[in-house]
Amino acid sequence: MALSEQEAQKASPLTDRFGRRHTYLRISVTDRCNLRCQYCMPAEGIQWIERKDLLSFEEIERVVRVLAGAGVSKVRITGGEPTVRRGIENLIGSIAKIDGIKELAMTTNGTTLRKMAQAYRDAGLTHINVSIDSFKPERFKEITRTDKIDTVLEGIECAVNAGFESVKINVVAMKGINDDELVDFVDFAKVRPINVRFIEFMPFDGNEWSKDRMFTYREMLAVVNQKHEIEPIERRPSQVAKDFKIVGGLGTVSFVTSMTEDFCSDCNRIRLTATGEFKPCLFMLPIVSVRDRMRNGCDDSQVLDAVQESLGQKWKGHPGAENLIKLKNASMIQIGG
Ligand code: SF4
Repeated sequence: MALSEQEAQKASPLTDRFGRRHTYLRISVTDRCNLRCQYCMPAEGIQWIERKDLLSFEEIERVVRVLAGAGVSKVRITGGEPTVRRGIENLIGSIAKIDGIKELAMTTNGTTLRKMAQAYRDAGLTHINVSIDSFKPERFKEITRTDKIDTVLEGIECAVNAGFESVKINVVAMKGINDDELVDFVDFAKVRPINVRFIEFMPFDGNEWSKDRMFTYREMLAVVNQKHEIEPIERRPSQVAKDFKIVGGLGTVSFVTSMTEDFCSDCNRIRLTATGEFKPCLFMLPIVSVRDRMRNGCDDSQVLDAVQESLGQKWKGHPGAENLIKLKNASMIQIGG
């Protein structure tokens, strides 16, 4: 007899003590990047991970295979910038073949999409998010410390034409930086079959976060509503964003409100760092190194033990911003979002 949702949750090995079933694995494959975004990469840089300490593609594939067997159905590849890791399309190809993985996504800064968008799609990538925080060349340069805006914009068009199930634009909205461009981004999505998502600025090591630099959901909504008519789209379980249809448009607009209206109660995400540690929450330190266990010859059931130990220590939800900034964490480039 089929288990009820509650029993299934209880039965699933990837359920935490709050009954949240974890079906979404986010994998950071590198801490390297070819951009230097202010809110991600500390100005003084970071201590790069040595190659030998990075999970190999084979090790990543093994972890995904074990977790897919335990209920993971969505995987997101992140970094740093995942496309700077050579042969990333091969990793995409091997993960796409794993039974149980229904959605394979990647978050990228878009700098390789002009050449590689179709190759990623053909390898099996289904969903792609491109991070861009400004359409203004000088401001893009100021934020990313590079002048690659044309490459990224052309890359987005290539992604739109590559046949992905979804193309999303990630925009970190920051007061005094790009808060005057929200309407431009919605204009951009209005004429393309894409989703633009405005992300509340979050505190991570080295990004000089402060409350007055944060552009809140309610403030962003008010700005967008001045120019655009948007209609709410019903939220799916465990969804992080609040989605809206742009009336009379092709695209949609969303808000990721983790600082003002968090979505921890039905969180389904677990993270794997580039050095092979399970991180039960974006704002918690890593708990268990599955890399070391694998390199010491553990079997697949012990890989599962490692993720369960991490989930066993997952909190109910992240504390408020004022307490969050007091906690030790890593920089965004080391976490991968
Ligand atoms: S902050 Fe942590 S618990 Fe909350 S939704 Fe994000 S990952 Fe889940």
